[in-house]
Amino acid sequence: MTDALYGAIEAGGTKFRIAVGTSPDLIADTTIPTTTPDETIGASIEFLEHYAGQLKAVGIASFGPLDLDPSSATYGSIIRTPKPGWTGTPFRELITDALGVPVAIDVDVGGAAIGEWTWGAARGLDTFIYMTVGTGVGGGIFAGGRIHHGMGHPELGHIAVAREPDDDFAGHCPFHGACFEGMAAGPAISARWGERVTDLVDRPEVWDLEARYIAQALRTLTYVVAPQRIIVGGGVNRNEGLLGLVRDKLSDQLAGYGTNPVVDSDLTDYVVSPEFGQDAGLVGAIALAAGLDH
Ligand code: ZN
Repeated sequence: MTDALYGAIEAGGTKFRIAVGTSPDLIADTTIPTTTPDETIGASIEFLEHYAGQLKAVGIASFGPLDLDPSSATYGSIIRTPKPGWTGTPFRELITDALGVPVAIDVDVGGAAIGEWTWGAARGLDTFIYMTVGTGVGGGIFAGGRIHHGMGHPELGHIAVAREPDDDFAGHCPFHGACFEGMAAGPAISARWGERVTDLVDRPEVWDLEARYIAQALRTLTYVVAPQRIIVGGGVNRNEGLLGLVRDKLSDQLAGYGTNPVVDSDLTDYVVSPEFGQDAGLVGAIALAAGLDH
């Protein structure tokens, strides 16, 4: 008798990673390019079929937007994506039908948040936020022991920020111009300063401004959600020292006001990095599958 395993699919716009395991220590994994749904989901199923006798459940952490309403006829499908051929793909149903086990699905940041909650930087918490600032800004709100979906799912990247007085950049969001993502995601940083983000690491003024915009968003989320912790990941956070700056700016902006005790702390335990950087999605997908098994 072999041990039971969970399957995991991290579905990204350019690549899929598929794995099996029972914890963040994955037993086997593979990476395939994202092409057509038939090819890419087909290859994912083929990989997982090798473990057919052992698989208890599968978790999917996918690019979106997704239909996450469990009462919907198209629950677990990809909706309205600009990615050619993928709109309407019944992702969850295809995996369920092929493998015959329960399948959990969430957006990539939702999966990553569950992974951090199960094994990482949010263990034991009841309410926290997981945010990535990279090519875009994404985030999940975990409240009362579960990921909050609401109508569709929250879009933390598109909340409003106030223009910093020393910044005349118009903003980079095709919908809102100067929203949080439009001012703080990687492409906005490059467009504002006229250089690639990797060539800007030694320019303190770049990161001082970046930290102020991230702090503005965290201030809003602190007051709206009252989380116990905010995890900030993504490519921008690879810049060493950025989170320290964000904590300083956030502390200034909170100005000691609020019932949440974090307002009087140094924020070291409040604004933190994720524990599972590159593997956040895969670990999250394993955690989603494990959650079905409780
Ligand atoms: Zn926007």
